[in-house]
Amino acid sequence: MEENGKNIVKTDEGAKDGQTKCPKCGATDISLNVKTGKLRCNFCRHEFEVQKFDEILDNDIENLKGEVIGSGASNIEADSKDMITLKCTSCGAEVVIDTASTTVARCHWCRNTLSINQQIPNGAVPDTVLPFKISKQDAKIAIENFVGKRKFFAHPQFKKEFSTDNVMGVYLPYMIVDANAHARLVGQGEHEIRRYTVKHGDSSTTYYDAELYDVEREFDIAIDDLTVESSKDKLSNDKNKTNNIINSIMPFDTENCVKWDSNYIKGYTSEKRDINIEELKPIVNEQCKDVARHSANSTLEYYDRGVKWGAESLDIKGQKWVSAYLPVWLYSYLEKKGNTNLLHYVAVNARTKETMGSVPIHKPKLLFISF
Ligand SMILES: [Zn+2]
Ligand SMILES: [Zn+2]
Repeated sequence: MEENGKNIVKTDEGAKDGQTKCPKCGATDISLNVKTGKLRCNFCRHEFEVQKFDEILDNDIENLKGEVIGSGASNIEADSKDMITLKCTSCGAEVVIDTASTTVARCHWCRNTLSINQQIPNGAVPDTVLPFKISKQDAKIAIENFVGKRKFFAHPQFKKEFSTDNVMGVYLPYMIVDANAHARLVGQGEHEIRRYTVKHGDSSTTYYDAELYDVEREFDIAIDDLTVESSKDKLSNDKNKTNNIINSIMPFDTENCVKWDSNYIKGYTSEKRDINIEELKPIVNEQCKDVARHSANSTLEYYDRGVKWGAESLDIKGQKWVSAYLPVWLYSYLEKKGNTNLLHYVAVNARTKETMGSVPIHKPKLLFISF
């Protein structure tokens, strides 16, 4: 579908709202088996193969032209409603799902699971999802290890109250971006040719002789799977602690993303996307420049005293945007400090088990140590 020069690719082809039935027994109680990454019928234990997202939207970055957008990443409409009513096909009841917080619900009469798989213009249904792979038990152990290593400095109150019982699995909203670009970097580089030390009485000075070169690099670059948060409060720069923590448990193995199915989020919580592509473009384009600069580094070894770029340009020939839910285990702790509350987090990447966080520090002990 062409829309204002943008190519919007429908990614929810064949998706159905309402009951998703087990192909073997017809039950609707289906959820993710973290051990296999597949969906499992909780009635007959049958597991389904999942369709890789790469099969839905191809990954040929070198030939990417213009703007390709997954339909789940298209603009959020201001007047879109979060509340959606589904009619249960087993008993006829009308079940309301508040898509601001979930896309699955149980029919209150017959207990069948109803889900929303067709995209709706409020950002709640993404193009793709990366399923949880680390179990809650393993996440708890990772968090306990992380906190354990920091216990010596931790606040006594926190030490007393720490328990991983409140650990929650959350799917956080991201945009996954590919770019086909042409980069041009112009600057000057220095190569050291001689180094010598001159003594003046007791002290000495080291001198360098270097040659100065004009350096220019021009190349095509294929940028694969940049991931940017697509939640407004995560992007605000007011020293947002969660944001820094989540950034440090990156990257995710986004190549293993699968076609969206609401049953993946059963038993987990999710955070709806609330930001559009246009607002994310400046951030993404800066990140693309960083990637380009970084990829030029391997060709600059001769300039052992560094290269300083004076001009850099990145011409983006093609860009692909896909919305995704990525899995994180979160432990949170509210520290009371006088009248204010400070929120601490420990986050575990639910694919790689990379763990990062903050714990309340006991200041007097720290001071004592530094003396
Ligand atoms: Zn079944
Ligand atoms: Zn029903």
